[in-house]
Amino acid sequence: MRIDVFTIFPDYLAPLQLSLIGKAIEDGLLEVHVHDLRQWTHDRHRTVDDTPYGGGAGMVMKPEPWGEALDALLASYGPITDGPRPVLLVPTPSGRPFTQAMADELAAAPRIAFACGRYEGIDHRVIDWARQYFDVSEVSLGDYVLNGGEVAALAMIEATVRLVPGVIGNSLSLVEESYSAASDHLLEYPVYTKPASWRGFDVPEVLLSGHHGKVAQWRHEQSVEITSRRRPDLIT
Ligand code: SAM
Repeated sequence: MRIDVFTIFPDYLAPLQLSLIGKAIEDGLLEVHVHDLRQWTHDRHRTVDDTPYGGGAGMVMKPEPWGEALDALLASYGPITDGPRPVLLVPTPSGRPFTQAMADELAAAPRIAFACGRYEGIDHRVIDWARQYFDVSEVSLGDYVLNGGEVAALAMIEATVRLVPGVIGNSLSLVEESYSAASDHLLEYPVYTKPASWRGFDVPEVLLSGHHGKVAQWRHEQSVEITSRRRPDLIT
């Protein structure tokens, strides 16, 4: 899998070198390229924004640097003779909410790029133009507004890359997780480790019983209870 991130703050993406994603890069499972959008500007101030047509507060990211950046990306891919079109994710609070199902789908994509907006966002013609060459999705990390797309891109990359075969040592740990199909898309039950008693709080008795059927039943009941209380929208 190859991931390209376009941003005016490349340092925001430094954590991609850490932990499991860093190791996936080392192991050759993943290629990550972070690009400074300003390298595709041509003025002394390396300008990437301008005032919005129609007026209003804030600035809008100019289309020209984005166009040149994405031209360069397409050129670097070389001819794509088989396989799916490259994916371009555009983080925006007005996008479709990012979900585990999307992460599952993306984990099978060979080429993914992120266009991280700042200010009031990217001139929309960039997105319309890019649809000719990419599968473009405008995606939101949640119902709140961040300063830029970088944190959203980091979260989406982490959620996706951990599903790529080989990235997580014990792939069984991916099966029974919150939102997974194997868990009926429920939230996960509470988890405990040793010691069995800590500061007056005890691990639920059933987990010490060694009875797999009862443990599974307790966990399912907990999942249903927690999901009904916190995320009733997930219960179909
Ligand atoms: N004016 C925009 C609006 O109200 O929808 C918000 C722009 S925000 C200040 C700047 C950038 O942060 C966006 O272009 C996007 O890249 C990113 N961003 C902010 N919130 C986000 C979210 N919830 N999900 C994904 N990206 C987000």
